[in-house]
Amino acid sequence: MKLGAIEAGGTKFVLGVGNEQGEILEKIVIPTEHPDITVPKVLEFFEGKGIERLGLGGFGPIDINATSPEYGKLQKTPKTDWVDYPLGAKLKEGLGVPVIIDTDVNVAAMSEAKWGNATDVNTCLYITVGTGIGAGAYFHGQTLKGLSHPEMGHIPVKRHPDDDYEGTCPYHKDCLEGIAAGPSLMNRWGKKGQELADDPKVWEMEAFYLAQALTTYIYILSPERIVMGGGVMKQAQLFPLIRKNVLEMLNGYVSSPFLTEKEIDQYIVPPGLTDEAGVKGALYLAMQQ
Ligand code: ADP
Ligand code: ZN
Repeated sequence: MKLGAIEAGGTKFVLGVGNEQGEILEKIVIPTEHPDITVPKVLEFFEGKGIERLGLGGFGPIDINATSPEYGKLQKTPKTDWVDYPLGAKLKEGLGVPVIIDTDVNVAAMSEAKWGNATDVNTCLYITVGTGIGAGAYFHGQTLKGLSHPEMGHIPVKRHPDDDYEGTCPYHKDCLEGIAAGPSLMNRWGKKGQELADDPKVWEMEAFYLAQALTTYIYILSPERIVMGGGVMKQAQLFPLIRKNVLEMLNGYVSSPFLTEKEIDQYIVPPGLTDEAGVKGALYLAMQQ
């Protein structure tokens, strides 16, 4: 049986055809443009491929409640062309197959649990620090959903004493995403993250914010592994700084061998899957049905 998979991101869509064994047999990448341009290209790619179901890992906020009449509809996304766009319905209609939808980060968490750096545990978080900050959670075979999907990038954090940057989040100004995603680095320091590699104070402040978030997630969700990806996490020096800050902030309160200087390197880790994490996770959504 052939299955379709889509990783729908703010900058690109990755389209794949795979099988029930989780193998991607064919894949293309197209830019995210206006939906009237991008969606016809998606339909054209899958046309005649004989897929029986389609998994979609989408940027959000997106309606992921399978019983909702607006299942797969985009909500208040900063990609204004896509606000209120019924992506799930358009794909279902256009391809005539069931579409199974989750967030891009939930799908990435599931993919890391199935094939990446969290295959040996039953619970994990996947956090992306890129244009925005978002996290998905995988718990015992399922991703975490409820009222909607978690929005872990928008939590409040304590301000660093040396930081007076007001924050970029259109909803909350200085939530985590508002002060620690890629665009805030640019706004605060006047250069892109990739050009700030040699400035230690940038990464100390970044780690201070990200570690607070991880500490909160550890208290609330108690994941057995935390995978951190996205453009900003390409600064590998962030990992040791974040791990050190997390241990200091937890201050020994949560007892686990992983939350020790010796083991934390195995606990807060980079992704095991690179380019295919999203599309493979979307395929897994289609496989599970
Ligand atoms: P997106 O979130 O749009 O899917 P990315 O995860 O690549 O894409 O995130 C893009 C953001 O990450 C930009 O703000 C960019 O400046 C920043 N970024 C990309 N590469 C690096 C890098 N090597 N070091 C620091 N920041 C980076
Ligand atoms: Zn926010």
